Amino acid sequence: MSSARTAIEKNIIEKPVLKSTKIRIRGKWWRLEIKQLAPVKREGSWVPLYGLCNYETRVVTLNPQFDMGATLLHEITHACQPDLDEVTVEEIEDAHINAKKALEKLIAK
Ligand SMILES: [Zn+2]
Repeated sequence: MSSARTAIEKNIIEKPVLKSTKIRIRGKWWRLEIKQLAPVKREGSWVPLYGLCNYETRVVTLNPQFDMGATLLHEITHACQPDLDEVTVEEIEDAHINAKKALEKLIAK
């Protein structure tokens, strides 16, 4: 038994991929997959995992238990710009979602 394995690594290994396809991100091929992800322990409490972005394997994973549209924007932002901090990625995700809602309202007018 390996006790060194992290909760995120266990998620990657243990859950089956429900669906997957290939996507191109900044000139490189990535795999986009839908897979249930178990919660992970962060600073002593369990938090849900909405998605993952793995730079080494170039795989973006979306958890279908949550809004995959929002998670897609978030994880693709990570994939495009690995050096961005989490707060900035969340701000970009929110900006996309707000802009999309505003455009939908505008079109419906
Ligand atoms: Zn993130």
